[in-house]
Amino acid sequence: MAASLIQGKDIALIDANPRIGAKILISGGGKCNLTNRFATSNNYLGDNDFIASTLARFTPHDVLAFAQKHHLELEERSHGQMFCRQSAKALVSIFEKKISTCKLYLSTKALHVEKNEYFTIHTDQGKIYTHKLVVASGGLSYASIGASDIGYKIAEYFGHTVVFPAPALVGFTLQKEQFWMKELSGIAIPVTISVEGKSFSENLLFAHKGISGPSVLSSSLYWKKGKMCIDFLPNISLKALLKKHSQKQISTALPLPKRFIKAFLESIKLEDKVISKLKSDELVQLEGLKCYEFAPAGNFGFTKAEVTKGGISTVEINPQTFESLLCPYLYFIGEVLDVTGELGGFNFQWAFASGFVLSEEIF
Ligand SMILES: Cc1cc2nc3c(=O)[nH]c(=O)nc-3n(C[C@H](O)[C@H](O)[C@H](O)COP(=O)(O)OP(=O)(O)OC[C@H]3O[C@@H](n4cnc5c(N)ncnc54)[C@H](O)[C@@H]3O)c2cc1C
Repeated sequence: MAASLIQGKDIALIDANPRIGAKILISGGGKCNLTNRFATSNNYLGDNDFIASTLARFTPHDVLAFAQKHHLELEERSHGQMFCRQSAKALVSIFEKKISTCKLYLSTKALHVEKNEYFTIHTDQGKIYTHKLVVASGGLSYASIGASDIGYKIAEYFGHTVVFPAPALVGFTLQKEQFWMKELSGIAIPVTISVEGKSFSENLLFAHKGISGPSVLSSSLYWKKGKMCIDFLPNISLKALLKKHSQKQISTALPLPKRFIKAFLESIKLEDKVISKLKSDELVQLEGLKCYEFAPAGNFGFTKAEVTKGGISTVEINPQTFESLLCPYLYFIGEVLDVTGELGGFNFQWAFASGFVLSEEIF
């Protein structure tokens, strides 16, 4: 994105991949959720002021205008998510055309950077010299398509603080007491997950090794330790429902998949009986469905995580220019910074906005 805005200038682009935009191509199931109409700084983990000032300079509306200008057809899905209508390839093609005036070093891995009068970038193909250096190397997830820790290494080399990078937008693995969920692999149900003052109402997908799906992925951004609360019956008053169906069996009364109810009841050792026959302590157990306390064992790791939370601290970055406050002419943009969005187009919005702000300032 940054490169696309600086055509005709003396720019070199280095990428370990043979083609640019590898993550764009695999994102959103091949249709790239490139922005979110409702994006605000509240959808991100990181310094709120830093994020807000960047988003204000390149809003979701600007991304939509960019798409329109380049005849990229989009479609809107739930919660303001904007996807390419045909394929993410169309977006990458736009960027490829725009950077055609840049000198491209593809299939070139950056290994180390030094600075004397100029920056010297040591790569597996030789050295490259530059007066200004922009690091947009992303996070650690999906190493199979070129991710590396080079951005963090460069930052640390020049004295920057790197907030511990961890997998985010990722599924959770289970503790022993949650193993009942393993039997449900393949089932998806709408839930609301509440964690650290945030709540996410979307599907939860039971997977072979744990839980995943949109609500879980966004929750993983904010979860630090301890328990989160899963409401398996969002927007439903369980008390009213049980009262209304007091003469029915639990499995008939609850609007949940039968396999789920069976596994849940077994996990709390409760028989599937007529609701009016439940004792008060059994009713309390059943109410666990409204706030199931879930403490993950861990997560699926960087191979499955959509993003990396943590990264280069924005405290040492000029919010107006994205220039390092510790090393002149060194810039960091995108996911490599300690800014991470929720699921739903927020991370591309951040990558685009930070790229835009930088391109406006330095070129
Ligand atoms: C499966 C998946 C689906 C996603 N879906 C979405 C989505 O739909 N919407 C959304 O908003 N976000 C999505 N994301 C997140 C989004 O892709 C990233 O946040 C975004 O791509 C970050 O942009 P970036 O330019 O900072 O880094 P990246 O896009 O990761 O680009 C970094 C580039 O640096 C290169 N690189 C790294 N190390 C080196 C090195 N040592 N030498 C040379 N080159 C190097 C890489 O090859 C890569 O091309 C998804 C991520 C994944 C993994």
